[in-house]
Amino acid sequence: MTEDRLLGAVEAGGTKFRCAVVSPDLTIADSRYVLTTDPDTTLATVVEFFERSEPAAALGIASFGPVDLDPDSPGYGSITDTPKPGWPDAPILGRLSEALGVPAGIQTDVEAAAVAEQGLGPEPRPRRLAYVTVGTGIGAAVAVDGRPWRGRHHSELGHIPVRRAGGDDYPGCCPFHRDCLEGMACGPAIAERWGVDPPDAGGRDDIWQLEAAYLAQLVRVLAYSFAPDRVVFGGGVGAHPGLAETIRAAARTELAGYADYSTGDDRFVTAPALGNYSGLLGAALLARSLLHG
Ligand code: ZN
Repeated sequence: MTEDRLLGAVEAGGTKFRCAVVSPDLTIADSRYVLTTDPDTTLATVVEFFERSEPAAALGIASFGPVDLDPDSPGYGSITDTPKPGWPDAPILGRLSEALGVPAGIQTDVEAAAVAEQGLGPEPRPRRLAYVTVGTGIGAAVAVDGRPWRGRHHSELGHIPVRRAGGDDYPGCCPFHRDCLEGMACGPAIAERWGVDPPDAGGRDDIWQLEAAYLAQLVRVLAYSFAPDRVVFGGGVGAHPGLAETIRAAARTELAGYADYSTGDDRFVTAPALGNYSGLLGAALLARSLLHG
């Protein structure tokens, strides 16, 4: 029976791949980390994990980007123009689906995380949820009723322009736009501006207030573009304890009372309900959808 079959899930990240065999009720039965080195070695090690585990009936991949998600494109399922050495044009979906011989699908890591947070978080579940990851880079995606909202390409909301905070003369670190949101608020921007690595910045309210002021501008863009019920901040920097609450307060200032349907909703901006499992469980949901339609 379809319902008994195991699911394969891969969260493909720039520093590591998380691989898991997941039961139909989304319990992780087996998992391992694979360090991200060159594509051939990394993908071969992922295949080896699945070949040694109990067979999965379908595979879902939640990948770092940018990744080609156009099924009509010859590069479908491949990484596109990443600065990561060796990875431009790496055919993640093609290589894994061919080696494992099961139905396979791919989404971005933030799309998968958004779908998982929307569909698996505590009741009452929001129908429309935006997920933002803040770490080495910044990415965001919106899930509506179990599916990612997607245009011609996955969104690149980390690269929106932002209004510079008063007194902030940090030039920004985005190689393309310099002082876009990612250039001003990603983990490396914090480290370079303040000389403090984000994990060591626990007691520094000044750092997190400035961070929230920039990220609240993305909340405004999300609120006015997509009107989500909830905005979840995850990732190594985004899930910093207390940051979601600080962003929520800053977002109230940013929205300035105009079309602010979040007023009084203390869950409008939150940390992930699934901890750092959102992406992996989103990949499992994608695999499950390939079996169940
Ligand atoms: Zn940028």
